[in-house]
Amino acid sequence: MPATILVVEDEPAIQELVTCNLRLAGHHPLSALSAEEALDMVNNALPDLILLDWLLPGMSGVEFARRLKTNHYTRSVPIIMLTARADENDKITGLEAGADDYIAKPFSPRELVARIKAVMRRNTPETTDYRVEIAGLCLDPVSHRVTTAGQPVELGPTEFRLLLFFMTHPERVYSRAQLLDQVWGSHVFVEDRTVDVHIRRLRLALATGGHDYLIQTVRSVGYRLSVSKANDSLL
Ligand code: CA
Repeated sequence: MPATILVVEDEPAIQELVTCNLRLAGHHPLSALSAEEALDMVNNALPDLILLDWLLPGMSGVEFARRLKTNHYTRSVPIIMLTARADENDKITGLEAGADDYIAKPFSPRELVARIKAVMRRNTPETTDYRVEIAGLCLDPVSHRVTTAGQPVELGPTEFRLLLFFMTHPERVYSRAQLLDQVWGSHVFVEDRTVDVHIRRLRLALATGGHDYLIQTVRSVGYRLSVSKANDSLL
């Protein structure tokens, strides 16, 4: 599955090499040259995974990992540390800071892509058979029921699938194209504005129970489900 991967690396040559290989593997890479720049990007939208260089100007990779892992909104984002240090103590420090894996430079593109796949698999919960509950809104995929305070919420099949996707991927921004891929399936030909129509219907249905605020528009990016107010900073 294609993932949005934030590459935090201050050396332009390595940054370029890594993002190029991620693109070849079908992922969507984003680049940051420092931890500070990466924080801004994470505040805007959570990536699916972060590739993080250890030695960065300003805030170090370890400090950045620690900040993400101690924050409620960002701690679920898996982190793979990239480092020139092959020392065992450094590896332990990185893992203690919350990194999910550790790759020593130089590494082969194939190894990098394989590690990403393994970390992504470990971090993708199989939630679709379980009841999901967010801020009092309950969705049961098995019975196809959505309720708020015990009252049923009437949704069309597309709005149900849209809500299921959002509730199992909270706090992340998805573009209209990504939502079409994930909810409608990439083989279906529908226009981007179709997404807006179904988002509007979903909000309308959720408004009865006061949960329409969960479905938020992120200007010029797309939509996300979030329990926080739309303009709250995450960090
Ligand atoms: Ca570096």
